[in-house]
Amino acid sequence: MSASLKDKSVIVTGGSKGIGKGIARVFAGHGARVLVVSRTAGEGEAAVAEFIAAGGTAAFCQADVTLRADCERMAETAVRLHGGIDVLCANAGAFPSLRFSEMTEDAWDGIFATNVKSMFLSIRACLPHLKASTAPRIVVTSSITGPTTGFPGWSHYGATKAAQTGFIRTAAIEFAKDNITINAVLPGNIITEALVDLGPEYIAATAASIPLGKLGSVDDIGHAAAFLASAEAGYITGHSLVVDGGQILPESPAALS
Ligand code: NAP
Repeated sequence: MSASLKDKSVIVTGGSKGIGKGIARVFAGHGARVLVVSRTAGEGEAAVAEFIAAGGTAAFCQADVTLRADCERMAETAVRLHGGIDVLCANAGAFPSLRFSEMTEDAWDGIFATNVKSMFLSIRACLPHLKASTAPRIVVTSSITGPTTGFPGWSHYGATKAAQTGFIRTAAIEFAKDNITINAVLPGNIITEALVDLGPEYIAATAASIPLGKLGSVDDIGHAAAFLASAEAGYITGHSLVVDGGQILPESPAALS
């Protein structure tokens, strides 16, 4: 456990399920005060109840992070309930599959709103409060898809995830004067409810392509985010940390035989 995360005020957007829930659980386990954010109240409240039952400190804020007013209310809620904001995990996102031949303008704009604009709006709303923290951190959940790999159906999704890693490099320079670090975690294929929906064949084929022979867990991503938010990572900024069991490494299937 990193002692430096104890009592920190941490916001996790999309913390109600999937990877965000794993991130929120790990931070709560480190003794942080966690604000779970999502649009669906039932799932968010259930996640918070789970963290509290395990001895953590957590609260829920219902918000749509594609909306400026909701992001501002989210930041105000963290300040009111937890006394400030030390860490923002901009994690909320979606990965609908759509081949380029079927791509519509609405689908393109929609995924950029959910994955990129939400990151911009949540960071902008939290920035004044992060500046008041003694060790302010931003951790963005990107993906290997886009920054390093491609997969049919995810041209728009991959573009949003690469936009995030592009963004953090310049943001890291601009935010450095306020001692704020910003880094990205790039998950490979992680077992979540949404990923299970892609079917057992997709999961088996993916596991076979990963050197470590299995998909990752949401807690694997939580541990990476917690490290990037810890005092020990205070000199790391603008970095993209791949957490994928070696998935992006093989040059061809022959590398795994
Ligand atoms: P997920 O299980 O579907 O969870 C998505 C979370 O984001 C939910 O809490 C959802 O809650 C929230 N959310 C979505 N849109 C939102 C909005 N407009 N406002 C507020 N909250 C919103 O997905 P996931 O797999 O955990 O993905 C989380 C992040 O990890 C995404 O950025 C994704 O690109 C990235 N990622 C996932 C994988 C993977 O293998 N699963 C791999 C690489 C990267 P509501 O719907 O209730 O709002």
